[in-house]
Amino acid sequence: MKFIRTFTKPSKLLPLLFLFSMQTLHAKDSDFLISNNKQINEVRFDKGFTAKQKEKTFQWVKYASKALKAVYGEFPVDYFITQIKASRRGSEPVPWGEVNRESPSEVVLVINKHASLKQLKDDWTIYHEFSHLLIPYDAGDERWLSEGLASYYQNILQARIGMFDEEKMWQKLYEGFERARKQTNYRQHKLSYLSENMESNHNYMRIYWSGALYWLKADVALRQLNNGSSLDNALLKLRQCCFRYPLSATEIIQQLDTLTNSKVFSQLFQQFSTSYQIPAYNALLQSLGIQQRIGDISLNNIAKFSKIRKAIYRDNNLLVED
Ligand SMILES: [Zn+2]
Repeated sequence: MKFIRTFTKPSKLLPLLFLFSMQTLHAKDSDFLISNNKQINEVRFDKGFTAKQKEKTFQWVKYASKALKAVYGEFPVDYFITQIKASRRGSEPVPWGEVNRESPSEVVLVINKHASLKQLKDDWTIYHEFSHLLIPYDAGDERWLSEGLASYYQNILQARIGMFDEEKMWQKLYEGFERARKQTNYRQHKLSYLSENMESNHNYMRIYWSGALYWLKADVALRQLNNGSSLDNALLKLRQCCFRYPLSATEIIQQLDTLTNSKVFSQLFQQFSTSYQIPAYNALLQSLGIQQRIGDISLNNIAKFSKIRKAIYRDNNLLVED
């Protein structure tokens, strides 16, 4: 169960996080740089990869980097490292991923060296880990918020880059919410408490997908304001104002409220962090034109907010050709 292994390592060293000097990069002269204007994702390999395996893996990371740009046209951080390690067992293409938020940010991906490019692209881990970079989170409090963001965007990124269509994107989100709804063995505890103690209660489904629902609800609420707001846009504003230092979940929420001139984030935050089960989502999905029948969803374009649903899927005009 990959989600167990996907976490964000806490770090207290962080004030230097975003102050990386490009000089260092030039001195290293890496062969595997993915650039977007002046931004760089540097791919590094552990020992043991052949030139061919490196090239294949590099193509994959490049593809996922392009997907990451489908949020607002650029990388969330100007310089980050994607560290590739080889898996010693199992046949899964990407058995493990994590983000180390040090200086600079590092996305670690453990991969099966023999996986094909297609198998690598089909695996969700890289989209999830890259999405963690969208907020300058200090990995302290309320981890459901960060895991939720990554779980929400991993599906949006894959859809926007063309890995799957709109219906499949919503199907995957719906299935996630359903898994959370069915995980009820800690229903005496609030989400906030559960995510503080994730390693002992293993309520990953409720934690990750309650979090994803939080961001979907925020996204829909922003788009209902009809002033050009969306979660993509709010995250871009956050990048522009507030990535110099790592922030706690609560600080991120406050900033997002300020940036969107709303109370959308804090009001939902209060509701979700104190929830004893995943908050209701059926009415929301219906209003978006997402119907479900025996576990399968279908889409209609006559619901009140069908246009919002499409926009969440389709806001991909920022994709830049390399
Ligand atoms: Zn994660």
